[in-house]
Amino acid sequence: MQGETTTGGVSCRDVLAALSDYLGAALDDETRQKAEAHLAGCANCTDFGAAFASTLRALGRLRVVAQADAVR
Ligand SMILES: [Zn+2]
Repeated sequence: MQGETTTGGVSCRDVLAALSDYLGAALDDETRQKAEAHLAGCANCTDFGAAFASTLRALGRLRVVAQADAVR
């Protein structure tokens, strides 16, 4: 299978596995950041998981907003 690459220290397979955990809200910050870094730099996953990538970014913003609310 073509297109298996390692970007940001994780492979496409690991990212897809992590995304499953992420959508189940079971992903820790370190793994999430690695997955985001991979998605940002991996054309394979950007093409294959564009919806996942946008979801990650959206959830990342939501998390920032939630933290801002918590501070207030
Ligand atoms: Zn990838």
